[in-house]
Amino acid sequence: MSARLIIMGPQGSGKGTQAARLAERLGVPAISTGDIFRANVKGGTELGNQAKAIMDAGDLVPDSLTNAMVRDRLAEADTAEGFILDGYPRNAAQVEALDAVLAERGVTLDAVVELSADRDELLARLARRAVVEGRADDTEEAISRRLAIYAEQTAPLTDAYAERGLLVAVDGIGDVDDVTERLMAALASRVG
Ligand code: AMP
Repeated sequence: MSARLIIMGPQGSGKGTQAARLAERLGVPAISTGDIFRANVKGGTELGNQAKAIMDAGDLVPDSLTNAMVRDRLAEADTAEGFILDGYPRNAAQVEALDAVLAERGVTLDAVVELSADRDELLARLARRAVVEGRADDTEEAISRRLAIYAEQTAPLTDAYAERGLLVAVDGIGDVDDVTERLMAALASRVG
């Protein structure tokens, strides 16, 4: 079984949850750039110190730092059979950087999943998450900044992946288990 996937969707679309579930089902690691950055902030690393203020404001960490981090992560042995990238790539320059890393490794993507949810549902979920998780970037200002960046820079990337025949759109609204089954069904012909 091999599965090299990207999962896209705005913050609050449930993509982190679904990435973890798909990873378990497919036997490949879920790689969340947001989680890696947060672990670095918590651990007080150089990378974390550079990223913290940017993350708290809801802005994107510079591509140079992000791309280098993903390159290192994809060099780890557990990605031999695949990976699910969650939160990366987020802009056109990151798409190019990822293409280069995959080409160097001699592998290609199997699919890019776009998980959709409408804006009211997203805002309601993010507000709930802010209470439960207490994330520093779940303030109203940072949330709207993140959604704006998603709409401006990240959502348009689906066009490029659609042109390559990689895009799979899945409705992210509904019961968590149902969404996982929808994803597995949509990916069935592409992984393995
Ligand atoms: P997330 O958990 O995916 O919402 O990411 C949290 C924050 O980490 C983002 O708002 C950014 O500040 C930073 N981050 C995560 N992934 C990326 C990325 N691919 N490029 C730049 N910044 C990122």
